Amino acid sequence: QPDWQGKHVTVAGLGVSGIPAARALHGLGAVVTVVNDGDDERSRAQAAELEAAGITVRLGDGATLPAGTELIVTAPGWQPDKPLFAAAAEAGVEVWGDVELAWRLRGPEAAPWLAVTGTNGKTTTVRMLASILEAAGLKTAAVGNIGVSLLDAVLGEEKYDVLAVELSSYQLHWAPSLRAHSAAVLNLAPDHLDWHGSMEAYAADKGRIYEGNRVACVYNVADPVTEDLVREADVEEGCRAIGFTLGTPGPSQLGVVEGILVDRAFVENRQKNAQELAEVADVQPPAPHNIANALAAAALARAFGVEPKAVRDGLRAFRPDPHRIELVEEIQGVVYVDDSKATNTHAAEASLAAYDPIVWIAGGLAKGASFDELVSRSAKRLRGVVLIGRDRALIREALTRHAPEVPVVDLDRTDTGAMSAAVQEAAALAEPGDTVLLAPACASMDMFANYNKRGEAFADAVRALAATGDA
Ligand code: ADP
Repeated sequence: QPDWQGKHVTVAGLGVSGIPAARALHGLGAVVTVVNDGDDERSRAQAAELEAAGITVRLGDGATLPAGTELIVTAPGWQPDKPLFAAAAEAGVEVWGDVELAWRLRGPEAAPWLAVTGTNGKTTTVRMLASILEAAGLKTAAVGNIGVSLLDAVLGEEKYDVLAVELSSYQLHWAPSLRAHSAAVLNLAPDHLDWHGSMEAYAADKGRIYEGNRVACVYNVADPVTEDLVREADVEEGCRAIGFTLGTPGPSQLGVVEGILVDRAFVENRQKNAQELAEVADVQPPAPHNIANALAAAALARAFGVEPKAVRDGLRAFRPDPHRIELVEEIQGVVYVDDSKATNTHAAEASLAAYDPIVWIAGGLAKGASFDELVSRSAKRLRGVVLIGRDRALIREALTRHAPEVPVVDLDRTDTGAMSAAVQEAAALAEPGDTVLLAPACASMDMFANYNKRGEAFADAVRALAATGDA
C-alpha cells in the first residue's frame, strides 16, 4: 500500500472514472494533476470544480507527461498507443486504470470480487448475478456500466458481502494485479479491434480476468477461445474450470436438460430437486443468448456457495434493462423491437437470430468490424434493411455480396432526425407478422450521445408512427 501523501499522480481523462479517481487520490493526500485532450465547455466546467477543490487540471493537452509524475491513473478508454503512455514508459512511470486503482486502494479488503467480461452480455449477466446473490441474502454491489461505481463500492461507507463486477477489455488491459474470487468470460467476438490492435491482443486482455482466480474460472463451452484463456491463466491451486453450455452438461459444467438449467450432478444422479437450478422460462427474455448469460451467472453464484434455490429466485426476480431487445410497440401487426445496445455484430447476430422475418435498421460506427458473417448468417430472415450512420456503406457492401435480393434503403444520413425517417422507411417495407428490429451492429456516437439516446430516438419515432396510424 503506497503512502499517497505528497505523491505526484497524473489522472488521464476527465469523465466518469477520472473525476472520482482525482478526488479520491486528492483526499488521500496525493498531488493530483488531471490531463484531458478536450477543452470544451463541459470539460471547463468540470475542471473549474476540481480546481476549486485544489486539483490541477490541464485541458487540451493529454499528450505531455507532467513533470514529476510518479504514477498515471488513466481512464480505461485511453488507447495504449497514446503518446502520454510512451512518455510514461520512457520515464519508468507505472500506468493504472480505474479498476487497478480500486483494487490497489482497497479491492481485496472490501469484499470478494465475482467478475464478468465478454464481448456481449456483461451488464445483463452482472445484474442477473447480483439478483441471485441478493436472493441468497447477501449484500451485493453490482458494479460496472450501471449501478454503483467501483471506487464507491470499495471505498464507501456501505459494507458489501460480495461485489458483482462488470469489466471491459479496456479496464482489464489496465488492471494487471486484479485477482478475483471467480470470473467468467461470456464470449469473444471481434470488437474494439481498433483499440486493442488485434484479435489476439483483445483476447489476451479479456483473459486477464482469470489471472489469480481463487475458486472458479467460468468459460463458454460454445466458445472454445474462452476455455483456452482459462488454460493459459495462472490461477490459485484448487481453482476449478467450470463450463456452461446450452446443451447437456459434461463434467464440471452447467447446462440445460429438458428446459431446466442444471449442473452436472443432476445428469449423474437425476436428483431432480437437488441440483435443479431454474427453468428456461424463469429467464427474461428466454432467448438462447440470455439463457447462456443466466448459466454464467449461476456458475459464479454457485462458486460463491449460493444454494440452487437462490439461483431460481434471483433469476425470477431479474428484469432486463432498457434498449436490450425491448418491445416498443405493435402497429398493424408489425412488432417494433429496440436492441440499440447491439453495438457490435456479435450482439446484433444474437437478436437477428430471435426473429423472422425482419426489417432491420442498422448502421453507425463500425469500429473496424466486418459485416460479412453477420449478413450471410442472417440473410434468409431479412425482409428489408434500412441503413443509417457513418459506416453504413460497409453493411451495404456486405448485403450486396451475401443478400443481393434483399431491398435496402440507404438513407445516407447521420443527423439525429434520420432515426425517424428510418422507422418510416422500415414501416413501409414491413408486412403484418414482421419485426422491425433496431440492432445497429455499430456504436452510436456518430449520431447520438450514446446507445440510450439512439434507442430513445427509435422508440419516440415508433410511438409517433403509432399515433399517426391511430389518427
Ligand atoms: P454488455 O454489457 O457486454 O455490452 P449487455 O448485457 O448490455 O452486454 O447486452 C449487450 C447486447 O448484447 C444486447 O444487445 C444483447 O441483446 C446482446 N447480448 C446479450 N447477451 C449476449 C450473449 N450472451 N451473446 C450475444 N449477444 C448478447
